[in-house]
Amino acid sequence: MRNGLLASDTRLNQTSYYEASVTRGAGWPALNGAYKADVAVVGGGFAGLCAAIELRQRGYSVVLLEADRLCSGASGRNGGQTIVGYASGQGPFEAQLGEADARRAWDMSLEAIHVLDGHIQRFGIACDRVNGYLYVADSPAKAKALLEDMADTERRYGFKAQVASGADVARFIDSPLYQAAAYDTTSGHLHPLKYGLGLAQAAQGLGVQLFECSPVTALQPGAPAVLRTAQGEVQATQVVLAGNCMLPEFGPQVAPAIAPRIMPVGTYIIGTEPLSPELCARLIPSNAAVCDNNFVLDYFRFSADHRLLFGGRVSYTTRTPGNLKEIMRRRMVQVFPVLQNVKVEFVWGGFVDISMNRAPDFGRLGSNVYYLQGFSGHGVALTALAGKLVAEAVAGDSERFDVFARLKHHNFPGGPLLRTPTLALGMLWHRLMDVVR
Ligand SMILES: Cc1cc2nc3c(=O)[nH]c(=O)nc-3n(C[C@H](O)[C@H](O)[C@H](O)COP(=O)(O)OP(=O)(O)OC[C@H]3O[C@@H](n4cnc5c(N)ncnc54)[C@H](O)[C@@H]3O)c2cc1C
Repeated sequence: MRNGLLASDTRLNQTSYYEASVTRGAGWPALNGAYKADVAVVGGGFAGLCAAIELRQRGYSVVLLEADRLCSGASGRNGGQTIVGYASGQGPFEAQLGEADARRAWDMSLEAIHVLDGHIQRFGIACDRVNGYLYVADSPAKAKALLEDMADTERRYGFKAQVASGADVARFIDSPLYQAAAYDTTSGHLHPLKYGLGLAQAAQGLGVQLFECSPVTALQPGAPAVLRTAQGEVQATQVVLAGNCMLPEFGPQVAPAIAPRIMPVGTYIIGTEPLSPELCARLIPSNAAVCDNNFVLDYFRFSADHRLLFGGRVSYTTRTPGNLKEIMRRRMVQVFPVLQNVKVEFVWGGFVDISMNRAPDFGRLGSNVYYLQGFSGHGVALTALAGKLVAEAVAGDSERFDVFARLKHHNFPGGPLLRTPTLALGMLWHRLMDVVR
């Protein structure tokens, strides 16, 4: 069941490698009838599930409503890269909040990884977790920028990565493309759908009431707030909205005020046939996840069964680019020419919820409705932190949540009809810069 965005292009709905490598089982029922809870969570991706777990651990009764299957959105489709920091970099935090709170935000991005690993360990989630992350640059100008960024992050925040340039890059990756690399042992990767379904089992085990195929179509504010689906309703003292860019699709009337602050941007991944373990160890000896520093970036890693999962290529128009598999295969072969004759067995995509400044957008509508959005392609680890912060806020300690809530966000220009074409034009310029720099 998909409407709006994803149904606009069925190619996005091809079975992902992740869906092909898990067994979902029968799933959870749709909401039917009237329920009451301390907290209702809208959205069953990482953000909603992590919030539900954290809330339940603090003793709240929680109902979670998912429009489709749990983790059928970005959380079950992503690159699996668990990354320190924010898509925006530290810029918006430093400029808007000052040095002390920018430092807290940085530290919280490190905490995000610990919270995620805490869930994996506590709930015994088998999700092919690997440590190690490699940033790479594919031109002299971008190599300079990468090395300067790393030096700056070390100087300001004490975060160290091993850096390499020129021929030394081959220690980290066997590709003719890259002129600099930085290896970080804190970030890493995992199988996102195994992680997400593990979170769902954990939430159920703690007593969260989970419902699938239950789009929330209306939210009546008040104490309690009332959430409505086609066949049921939930009365809740507090509400957490974690619907990503699908929220306005499934429930246009639920929270129209926050929708214009994020933009759905399509990003795509191909998955090869399994390669030999020896070849994988030669191409990326540390088995790190890799990401370049282009504006439209390539991100890739090996799966536990030795497939290269290669992501990149974005669409700012919500339409899947034509000839996607071949375009992405060619880019993969530029990175690793040895993969010229390797079969591509999977191609899929999803939408990231980017905010205008690429910083996360957390906040409140009234006094008892919280929202978590704007992860901007950096949400695998950050959603674990977001779940914890919103639970702290619901429990009455909003100090850390408010570090994020104080960040100012702007609507994308153009209104519902024009903002996508306007953004597409703007992004063309950045894409051009990736090519010429
Ligand atoms: C292809 C791709 C690659 C990515 N790669 C990475 C990566 O490598 N590293 C990284 O850190 N991040 C990455 N991201 C981003 C990351 O996946 C997201 O930031 C993160 O999963 C967001 O989680 P979420 O719970 O906010 O959203 P989602 O997982 O999208 O969950 C939102 C859920 O809410 C449901 N929903 C919406 N509206 C309603 C409603 N009205 N009623 C009920 N339910 C509703 C949706 O059906 C959906 O399941 C990637 C994203 C994509 C698409």
